[in-house]
Amino acid sequence: MTGGGDLTFRCPDCGEAMAVNESMRDALLDHGCVVCGSTVSAAAFSPAEPE
Ligand SMILES: [Zn+2]
Repeated sequence: MTGGGDLTFRCPDCGEAMAVNESMRDALLDHGCVVCGSTVSAAAFSPAEPE
């Protein structure tokens, strides 16, 4: 599979980590963590690590 998530989101509050794309990042920044609802900042995102 190619495309899709190119960032890794890790919630600073609940610790949930997931691969996200740019539109998902924007949604998280707008609405908060999908798991715990905590406010998300840009610092919670990092480039996805290749495996
Ligand atoms: Zn969370």
